[in-house]
Amino acid sequence: MAKVYYDRDADLAFLNGKTVAVIGYGSQGHAHAQNLRDSGAKVIIALHEGSKSKAKAEADGFEVYTVQEAAKLADLIMFLMPDHMQADIFKNQVLPNMKPEAKLLFAHGFAVHFGQIVPPASHDVFMVAPKGPGHMVRAMYKEGKGVPCLIAIYQDASGKAKEFALAYASAIGGGRAGIIETTFREETETDLFGEQAVLCGGVTELMQQGFKTLVEAGYQPEMAYFECINEMKLIVDMIFEGGMSWMRYSISDTAKYGDMTAGPRVIGEESRKAMKQLLTEIQDGTFARDWILENQTGRPRMKKWAKAAQEAPCEAVGKELRKMMPWMEQKEVPKF
Ligand code: NDP
Ligand code: MG
Ligand code: MG
Repeated sequence: MAKVYYDRDADLAFLNGKTVAVIGYGSQGHAHAQNLRDSGAKVIIALHEGSKSKAKAEADGFEVYTVQEAAKLADLIMFLMPDHMQADIFKNQVLPNMKPEAKLLFAHGFAVHFGQIVPPASHDVFMVAPKGPGHMVRAMYKEGKGVPCLIAIYQDASGKAKEFALAYASAIGGGRAGIIETTFREETETDLFGEQAVLCGGVTELMQQGFKTLVEAGYQPEMAYFECINEMKLIVDMIFEGGMSWMRYSISDTAKYGDMTAGPRVIGEESRKAMKQLLTEIQDGTFARDWILENQTGRPRMKKWAKAAQEAPCEAVGKELRKMMPWMEQKEVPKF
């Protein structure tokens, strides 16, 4: 089992007299910046020209600089802009301007682990990654609680990288919940695998194939949508709250018997092989290479896929059904 650190293991004094530049003021950025400030750290925000979030950062009382300016001022530089942009911003705006001993912080390991960012050896490089969305990181902090956090040390030039990582994690509230140490490799590879095989790729394809099977067999699409897509939330909520055992304790015995007999048939040998193959392609860099290339060429495959995915038959059915649910805010997704 992983070792867990708490506030008592962290010393916020490591942040005394230091300036933290948070690059980006989105989901994670606004939460880190405000929690750090409330914990006593000096925080500045770095954003690009014409940034949509600049007004929000200023309204929240922060000084907003360009990335170049902020890099000159900062002792700790936290990268909280989209992952695929980090390498370019590092190379062109941070690297030429940063102090010789500035610490480089990340909330996800992709750019560093896959060699998109190669930090000079004289800099501490570490990760502080809350295991929750930014609004939760901020809301929990305000309630005196926190969201569990990961830390990982990639480069320890000062000999104190871990102390700084623990101090930062504690300052954003992670030490109230628990801080787990990992590595850039483990965080990056498990994150990619989880979203591909299970959370995003796996789950949406499972739902859609279930929906399709019922509709092709002549059942009403509304029934198929409820049974194979909409009700996923009820099951996942129970797993989230008390594990699979709690979910199984709550469902009918008939559902449990079906769970037992059908699960391993749907996710059979072929799927298990595909999962191992996905992991291999994550580990050997094939996935990272493909994704970087896709970005460099203007995302042609993603654009085509996103349009088709938005037009999938289940999406229109779900939209109509949600109008029958007055407690739900009706979402409008921008068209591709
Ligand atoms: P968001 O997409 O929510 O925020 C992006 C921010 O970066 C915006 O403020 C955006 O400004 C700004 N930005 C865009 N381009 C630039 C630029 N060229 N220079 C400076 N700033 C720029 O990102 P997230 O908070 O979701 O993700 C940040 C990091 O945190 C990523 O590494 C991600 O993997 C990691 N992470 C995210 C989690 C999450 O729940 N979202 C959880 C854990 C880790 P504008 O408003 O103008 O677009
Ligand atoms: Mg993840
Ligand atoms: Mg991810």
